[in-house]
Amino acid sequence: MSRFLNEQYRDLVPYDTTGEHETGAYIKLNTNESPFPPSPRALKRAAEAAGTLNFYPDPDAHELTAKVAELCGVEPKEVLLTCGSDEALLFIFMAFCAKGAAFPDITYSFYEVLAGLNGIPFETIPLNKDLSLPRGVQGGDSIPLSLNVERCLGLGKTLFLANPNSPTGLALPRAEVERIIQGNRDNIVVIDEAYVDFGAETCVPLIHKYDNLLVVQTFSKSRSLAGARLGLCLGQAELIQDLKTIKNSITPYNLSGATLAAGLGALEDEEYTRANCRTIMENRAFTAEGLRALGFDVTNSMGNFLLARHPKFCGGELAKKLKGHGLLVRCYSAPEALVPYVRITIGTREQMEALLEALRRIEEEERR
Ligand code: PMP
Repeated sequence: MSRFLNEQYRDLVPYDTTGEHETGAYIKLNTNESPFPPSPRALKRAAEAAGTLNFYPDPDAHELTAKVAELCGVEPKEVLLTCGSDEALLFIFMAFCAKGAAFPDITYSFYEVLAGLNGIPFETIPLNKDLSLPRGVQGGDSIPLSLNVERCLGLGKTLFLANPNSPTGLALPRAEVERIIQGNRDNIVVIDEAYVDFGAETCVPLIHKYDNLLVVQTFSKSRSLAGARLGLCLGQAELIQDLKTIKNSITPYNLSGATLAAGLGALEDEEYTRANCRTIMENRAFTAEGLRALGFDVTNSMGNFLLARHPKFCGGELAKKLKGHGLLVRCYSAPEALVPYVRITIGTREQMEALLEALRRIEEEERR
């Protein structure tokens, strides 16, 4: 740390990207990207737009904003496009967290980073930690790593909920999320729907009903555009206007013309996205079954990933062994409850077969 660093950033703990971009011929199942390339339509549009990179892009992203609004059934003034959904989250922390923030103790770790960056005090809501129960058992609070809705009511601070949650993959039905929104009428509830396209229910239809709801989505997962950096936030016009004020005070040209064009192309090819999501859901079911047959506990994930643990290995050990077999998965040194687990991104059928085959071999090696 240099002696010049601003005092307020001295204790900052940034987002940990260690190992996320390993080079080498690995099957990459560690960052929940799509295994499928962007839609041909997205690629064509991005290539065309590359020729105009000498100009600043449209700071209001009119064309893509209108398309998003049309597909989501909202008005353009209820949409803000951002550089990944991470940027939407940053703007929300800056705009709406004066009374503090709250999020589950096991969730997307960037919320804590953004709270730290903005000097915002936060409360964590403990997920159910009874890990002795078998995964996927339905019944509210008895599901390991599930969220108890009662604990999310009357918080008095901005609540961030990833739905489906990461890394658990568990999702609340819309009616339960609505109960949370109703139970927090004097603070904002942010529903982070990064993984919503893989089987969960979206809360977008609720934005006209509640002036305290923001829904954040991304093009990084179901739309195969993680590298383009494109996210969005939906909410009532006044909220979006506040976020635009922040955005235009930091980075008015936050999205390149090529990114905007790729996003538009992706939305013009919804059938491609839907087909890919169906494949991911099929491969998720196939992988969960294969993992359970190998003795793993697997959460009932609604995301493009599975959270799994094996009685014989801790997550870090398993990730290391899998790396030896050419596969990268995500493991955790904290929080404590995640240490036994690995999070596995769902890839192509071939990649999932390679994963299960590697795990079979690892088990065999262990038995010898
Ligand atoms: N929310 C959640 C729950 C995530 O897991 C991620 C990243 N994987 C993001 C938001 C941010 O994604 P992006 O900035 O690529 O849109």
